[in-house]
Amino acid sequence: MAQQAVQPDEATHRLAHDMLMQLSEINTTDSIGSVTAAAEAMVQRFRDAGFPESDIHVLGPNDRKKNLVVRLHGSGKHKPVLLIGHLDVVEARREDWSTDPFKFVEQEGYFYGRGSSDMKDGDAIMSATLMRMKKEGYIPSRDIILALTADEEGGTSNGVDWLLKNHRELIDAEFVMNHDGGGVLSEHGKPLMMEVNATEKLYSDFVLTATNPGGHSSLPRPDNAIYELAAAITRIANYQFPFELNNVTRAYYEGQQKISAGQRAADIAAILKTPPDLDAVARLSKDPIDNSTMHTTCVPTRLSGGHANNALPQTAQANVNCRILPGHSLEEIRLALIKIIADSKIKVQYRDIGGQVLDHGSDRHSFVPPPPRQDVFAALRQVVAEMWPGIPVLPTMATGASDGVYTNAAGMPTYIISGEQYDRDDVRAHGKDERIGVQSFYRGVDFYYAFLKNVTEK
Ligand SMILES: [Zn+2]
Repeated sequence: MAQQAVQPDEATHRLAHDMLMQLSEINTTDSIGSVTAAAEAMVQRFRDAGFPESDIHVLGPNDRKKNLVVRLHGSGKHKPVLLIGHLDVVEARREDWSTDPFKFVEQEGYFYGRGSSDMKDGDAIMSATLMRMKKEGYIPSRDIILALTADEEGGTSNGVDWLLKNHRELIDAEFVMNHDGGGVLSEHGKPLMMEVNATEKLYSDFVLTATNPGGHSSLPRPDNAIYELAAAITRIANYQFPFELNNVTRAYYEGQQKISAGQRAADIAAILKTPPDLDAVARLSKDPIDNSTMHTTCVPTRLSGGHANNALPQTAQANVNCRILPGHSLEEIRLALIKIIADSKIKVQYRDIGGQVLDHGSDRHSFVPPPPRQDVFAALRQVVAEMWPGIPVLPTMATGASDGVYTNAAGMPTYIISGEQYDRDDVRAHGKDERIGVQSFYRGVDFYYAFLKNVTEK
């Protein structure tokens, strides 16, 4: 390595801390919060940091859901890079938490507050990084655009989607980096690997319904809505969607192979071959993470049926939640479920994110990822080698969905990258007493500056 890339800066730490505190205390939930208030607070920060009005935009579909777009100009050698982060947070109730979720609390080495790890931390880190670059007069080889947006967690005004549809010119980029995940996975404080989500599965709910004329329960018949629904669910339980790897999951297993041993290493080698060894696939599929990496999965998550203890059920219904591999549409999986269930009496419908139940799924799908960008991964490896010597950098597929579904669909390959370290058994995003380690946060600040500079220097 030519020189140290990581140069911690006290003023940037303080600024990132102050912005995390400020953002945490602005309620940005969908129910009663305002994303606009958080966006406006950040506007003032960017003005104070010397960004001209012409490079700061606050815009959105309504008063509560405005997004912030800021641009740091580069030399124009390459097309811009877009950084995205959501400002909204999941609901949090005071009575569920040990402290007020909308008060920023520092305690025993952690920052507590709703959004402290998902993802007002990332918003503060990316903003502080741009402000430091501005202060230092750094000219990147491409414009760096930052978009802080609404409704990633829910709501009907997704900011990334809205910006792409209404102001594409403001956020158009060659690729995208999202701070909403990834990071250094550790076990009891020991770093294991840096994960970079480079593609994601598509989330989808389907509704299975069995109906029957019903009748008196003293006179049962073989036809019964609950029996039929139970049989349909059993067929889903016994079905495995086909094994499939893409550019990202293949690269993930190539990396895993190097850090695995014994049977697992042999099995990984066997699934990477063409054609893959299906016995090895079956052995690996016993692990839930491997299973979900190699297959589309569908699982029943809710059940309801019947209307009285002494009546034959007239309806029985199940929600089946699927996580769909890139390249397959919602409608394709709905049709697959119909085939798996193989009972025309069971109706299979799609439930959209608003809860509406529809007879058809859309053709929406998560895009098959291109090979991971070498410039991004080379830059990452250099900084990781310095900050967490010896751990691998692994491209991964997220099993949930982020705003990357919109940017990937718009043709901008999206990577979820953060330099925060989190313990495998202390993931509190969306839960009570959400927190981020103080050291993890500050090292995340140091990481992001070094990494972003590394990616945009050449
Ligand atoms: Zn998030």
